[in-house]
Amino acid sequence: MDGIDLSTTNEIAQRIQNLPITKGEIFELIKKYDTKSLSTIAKISRDTCKNGPITYSRKVFINLINLCRDTCSYCTYKKELSDLDLSILTKDQALHIARLGKRLKCTEALIVTGERPEQKYPEFKEWLKKYDCSSTTEYIEQISNLILEETGLLPHTNAGTLNYDELSVLKKSNVSLGCMLETASDRLSGKNMPHEFAPSKNPKARIRVLENAGKLKIPITTGLLIGIGETLEEIIDSLIVIREINQKYGNIQEIIMQNHVPKSNTKMRNFLPPSHDLFLLTISLARIIMPHMNIQVPPNLSPNLYFTYINAGINDWGGISPLTIDFVNPESPWPDIKDVKHATEKAGYRFRGRLAIYPEFLLSKRDFIPKNLWNYITPLSDSSGLVKEELT
Ligand code: SF4
Repeated sequence: MDGIDLSTTNEIAQRIQNLPITKGEIFELIKKYDTKSLSTIAKISRDTCKNGPITYSRKVFINLINLCRDTCSYCTYKKELSDLDLSILTKDQALHIARLGKRLKCTEALIVTGERPEQKYPEFKEWLKKYDCSSTTEYIEQISNLILEETGLLPHTNAGTLNYDELSVLKKSNVSLGCMLETASDRLSGKNMPHEFAPSKNPKARIRVLENAGKLKIPITTGLLIGIGETLEEIIDSLIVIREINQKYGNIQEIIMQNHVPKSNTKMRNFLPPSHDLFLLTISLARIIMPHMNIQVPPNLSPNLYFTYINAGINDWGGISPLTIDFVNPESPWPDIKDVKHATEKAGYRFRGRLAIYPEFLLSKRDFIPKNLWNYITPLSDSSGLVKEELT
């Protein structure tokens, strides 16, 4: 059935906001309504449950170490030792980027590495010794502390499947961490599938990270990569898995809905990207499944579709950098922040900068934040938990 009247959309939005929707009910909705109608339900849910501004985080992307133990069929982030664009940043180099970011009013230092490179590259393991480190995590800890102390930028690290001890170490210097679930389907780890050679992408390993972060009270960003061979049912299952973790621990701070953009020099170069309709459907479902969650779509992976995503219920644009490129998707430049602001305001919403930790944690989940980090968070945040307007 095409189209849905306003009273029905309101009724459904109200129902899902009070009681989590079941998998059976989701399929009933999909059967009954088209994507446009489901987007409308998602938009109403966002307006009701997240009726603040649509946010973004002004960041620098610190591409710390782009070596990786694993191989995913769609990835161009991972490099080899002989590659010209190999990145193994020294402390001075990382700090230099953070300092430049500070001048450009950034508040987030996104620190990214591949999965446990020291396990595959003895040369890198040797390199770490000059900083008295035996693992990538130990080096990230030093970099995070340095950036925090010298610039006040708030670190947010995405370094793959960190174990419990590693998470607890990074909690002291990172206001939040990131670990994309990508998919809860272990079918995608099977033969000839995108995660065949990436044990860290096994959903069990990723779910363990999200749960350990929950036990440690670490705000964590996760999300799905849409269009790498998963079915709609697997996408729904993945969203429900994230919802269950958040119901148990309350530690999921946002869900990134990321569309796969096939890259020319990968095994999946001829893979079809997700259709616009499917991607919109999955964004809408993310909001319908988790009406109170922060839902983000990166604005650089399908530019000029700002209104469509806003109308499908997102409330965040993620990190946008005025300085560094998106090293995971280098072919997709960040939009000008002014353009995203303009589009957001034209759609009728306020546009505000947020920190690398969401306001909910600053306002009502304060026990998630180690005491020492407040010294860095407080000077940046206003009473609503967003970046002080005079700093933007
Ligand atoms: S684990 Fe991450 S960095 Fe490594 S190959 Fe996969 S996507 Fe690339």
